[in-house]
Amino acid sequence: LLLPFALLLTLIMIGGIVWVSRRRLSPRGELAIAVGKREFVVHYQPVIHLPTGACVGAEALVRWRRPDGSLVRPDLFIPLAEDSGLIKPITDQVIDSVLDELGPTLAADATMHVAINLCADDIRTGRAVRVIARKLEGKELQAGQLLLEATERGFIDVEAARTTIGQARAAGHSLAIDDFGTGYSSLQYLQSLPLDALKIDKSFVETIGLDSATSSVTDHIISMARALGLLLIAEGVETQAQADYLRARGVDFAQGWLFAKAMPAADFLAFHQQRRAQFGACPSRIQRRW
Ligand code: C2E
Ligand code: MG
Ligand code: MG
Ligand code: MG
Repeated sequence: LLLPFALLLTLIMIGGIVWVSRRRLSPRGELAIAVGKREFVVHYQPVIHLPTGACVGAEALVRWRRPDGSLVRPDLFIPLAEDSGLIKPITDQVIDSVLDELGPTLAADATMHVAINLCADDIRTGRAVRVIARKLEGKELQAGQLLLEATERGFIDVEAARTTIGQARAAGHSLAIDDFGTGYSSLQYLQSLPLDALKIDKSFVETIGLDSATSSVTDHIISMARALGLLLIAEGVETQAQADYLRARGVDFAQGWLFAKAMPAADFLAFHQQRRAQFGACPSRIQRRW
């Protein structure tokens, strides 16, 4: 009597194991495996000094390279990474890639900077600033060559953000508010936090040359940033007309497909060298304002 029963139990167990392993992993499970296997690569989008055309550096933009070789855009996994806490090891892998791939060039060229995107939680807790400090030990590049970016969400808890900004500034980094105008905005925090730069979101850049009511919002962001003493970096510049408009209004820096898309490190370094030969060194840096 016991034997058929044990046999049946074994069959059910085997069936269960097969069912579980056949079942697709949850997106979170897949992402956790990707973190463990360090499947993230960083592409670099050049940042251009509008008055001269010189390349001042790059923004580091993460991509997930699946085992089949396909690249997943960050918009498709960063929200899940933030919700699940997996953003922390991803951020750390981005920092590692930046230091490995651009570290020697940054050390050799103090005028060059690289921007790293931090998540809201890292602005609240200061964790990433501590990680960067540890990873910079023994490296020759200057902390001032790292621009830390975060969207408005990171600054909702103003007092926590102020503490982290203080730590980042003490370490020597500069700080930018990313995608400005697309999220929770309070002019009061902007005024009270010692930020260095403001990135004009591409949704505003897109309105340039369209009807004057919407593009005047872009003008207001520009004059507000100037009143606050912030450097301006325009995102998503796709046309010469947009670049001309921004330059005429005193916007110093821009990134966008007009100049270059984000690209692997080796391609970026070649782009930077070629741009250097053509336009010279950038006379103006993205740096601390306060
Ligand atoms: P972001 O920081 O605002 O980055 C700018 C995005 O605009 C990038 O998309 C870039 O490829 C894209 N872009 C640049 N120029 C143009 C243009 O001329 N036209 C158009 N249509 N798009 C342009 P990407 O690389 O897909 O990144 C999307 C977002 O994912 C980033 O927006 C950033 O918020 C987030 N992200 C990327 N890397 C990281 C990271 O390492 N950590 C965190 N926390 N977030 C990241
Ligand atoms: Mg950014
Ligand atoms: Mg942005
Ligand atoms: Mg954006």
